[in-house]
Amino acid sequence: MIQKPKGTRDMLPETCEKIRILENLFIELCGLYGFREIRFPMFEKTSLFERSVGESSDIVRKEMFRVISGANLDKYCRGGYDIQKEGLTLRPEGTAPTIRSFIENKLYADAQPTKLFYMGSNFRNERPQAGRFREFTQFGIEFIGSEDAYCDAEVIGLAMDMMERLDIDDKELRINSVGCPSCRKAYHELLRGFLADKVQYLCHDCQDRYDINPLRILDCKIEADQQRIKGHPVLLDHLCDDCAQHFESLKENLSAMELDYIVDTGIVRGLDYYTKTAFEIVSSSLGSQSTICGGGRYDGLVEELDGPPTPSVGFGMGMDRLLMAMNDLDEKEERKGIFLLALGVEQKSALVNLAVKLRREGHYCEVEVMQRSLRASMKYANKQLFKAVLVYGESEKEKGVILYRDMEKGEQIEVEFDRILEVLSE
Ligand code: ATP
Ligand code: MG
Repeated sequence: MIQKPKGTRDMLPETCEKIRILENLFIELCGLYGFREIRFPMFEKTSLFERSVGESSDIVRKEMFRVISGANLDKYCRGGYDIQKEGLTLRPEGTAPTIRSFIENKLYADAQPTKLFYMGSNFRNERPQAGRFREFTQFGIEFIGSEDAYCDAEVIGLAMDMMERLDIDDKELRINSVGCPSCRKAYHELLRGFLADKVQYLCHDCQDRYDINPLRILDCKIEADQQRIKGHPVLLDHLCDDCAQHFESLKENLSAMELDYIVDTGIVRGLDYYTKTAFEIVSSSLGSQSTICGGGRYDGLVEELDGPPTPSVGFGMGMDRLLMAMNDLDEKEERKGIFLLALGVEQKSALVNLAVKLRREGHYCEVEVMQRSLRASMKYANKQLFKAVLVYGESEKEKGVILYRDMEKGEQIEVEFDRILEVLSE
């Protein structure tokens, strides 16, 4: 039997119904804050992610699903294939495609800011485990065009509203600043100095990170490495005046929005493009994959992708982890819909025609297709929580009526066939 690929999931109807609730809530909140939807391709040029997410990130180093398309494959076989230039990659995140689209469609030429949201699948070749999949869904927003720390707080506020509305337990907002290229450069040297005699004991990845981007070592998921680097200098203590001021302003805005937060100097985020604000929202109810939402400011990204200098801030929220953390919405199971049963072939077309009319009037109805008897049909309709059953058999046809059974009350009456639509609308 062919099974689904590792790290993917089937979303069955019960799950899809929950997901729809999440999507609708997210869309509603985006509307309250003025974010509008954007959709972009499922795959992009590989170089987009290499240049934005960054060569030192886990995503680019290990997790991307690179696609060699049929057309490219020809060249690949003949040699001379330039994967940097021509390779395609299933999107691992949504910020880079949003910004690519912002630039390509010249949205910067409109009055600013630009406020966008997206929802959809991302792909990362990670080791599958609870809360970590190879195809997962993110809700994301990007607030593009302003460096005002209010924007950072607004982005965080929307994410917190979402968690609040879903009644997520033990949620915690953690904020940090990762500075700008200028204060980070000085800090990198400081950190390298501190790590110089420790780096040989760290994992292979961290040894690479030491040269490319030592800040990334702080984000290593290996506990032994975290023990070895204890007491490391903290970037927050070495911010330039501009970054320090921005962080103060963020905290003031968060307080004005009545949001509690914890300053966590360990948050560095997994993507290279972050500047100043970095934040995570975690829920302890989730175990080890506890981060539901991560985001931050990326003032250099638009320029890095050849657009005009444009400060921006955004988040990515893991829909799958949200689903795991949210308390069951106790929705009452209500009876709804009409089950249509024709007894005898002759009666079937009249009933099929009635179904069409019912749906035109906005009634949900289903037609019996399993050749069940009257008794078995009633049993089925009861179990499926139909509100009513309509039975049309030979005797009903002769009398010009249809049998209407109210499943709630357990009562049944005969209604003139031509008046049934009227009666149901009442
Ligand atoms: P992590 O540290 O858990 O790997 P990350 O830093 O790679 O997360 P981001 O790229 O910032 O995560 O993505 C934002 C959110 O998307 C995460 O907080 C998480 O909820 C979700 N997410 C990321 N990767 C996965 C995955 N493989 N499976 C499910 N959800 C994911
Ligand atoms: Mg990751």
